[in-house]
Amino acid sequence: MKTPSSLEELIAALRRLPGVGPKSAQRMAYHLLQRDQAGAARLATALGEALSKIRQCEQCNSYAETPVCELCGSPRRDRSLLCVVEAPGDLLMMEQAQCYEGLYFVLMGVLSPLDGIGPREIHMERLLRRATDGTVKEVILATNFTVEGEATAHYLGEALRARGLSVSRIARGLPVGGELEHVDSGTLAQAVLERRQA
Ligand SMILES: [Zn+2]
Repeated sequence: MKTPSSLEELIAALRRLPGVGPKSAQRMAYHLLQRDQAGAARLATALGEALSKIRQCEQCNSYAETPVCELCGSPRRDRSLLCVVEAPGDLLMMEQAQCYEGLYFVLMGVLSPLDGIGPREIHMERLLRRATDGTVKEVILATNFTVEGEATAHYLGEALRARGLSVSRIARGLPVGGELEHVDSGTLAQAVLERRQA
């Protein structure tokens, strides 16, 4: 029996999710259709809403429903500190660690020449403009301790220092090859406190 084409399309769409292979995509599709049509409708609505409402903050690149996100707009944050992270999930981890009161810049990636990700893709120009706006005094590089994360931190550090900024790198309380997202908040907080000149 041939699979109806809309079911095929659903399975193909689910397969776009990270870590989802053909078998699990099929299981998910059947689950939604057979056991949880209300859940499926909710998922469809939530996806539509998120796609139409969520944009990137003009200042930090993180996701927001307003041009400038709540964090960047908050008067309680220390504007002299700018922390550079790879992804919105890393920003969230930093916030949960409650160890930092400054602002952020989310690269939305890391330098990876083989994948065609260069300075332009990680918004390097905007980061430099932001960091040299006169209010930022210290830039904290909090990219992951992976090969790409380290290379990116090195590259950004050089460029920022050349513009007279004080640059630090979070300390290596984090495991080598470690990603911020998978570290407990205590370790992350310690790494921020023990950051060193980069
Ligand atoms: Zn923001």
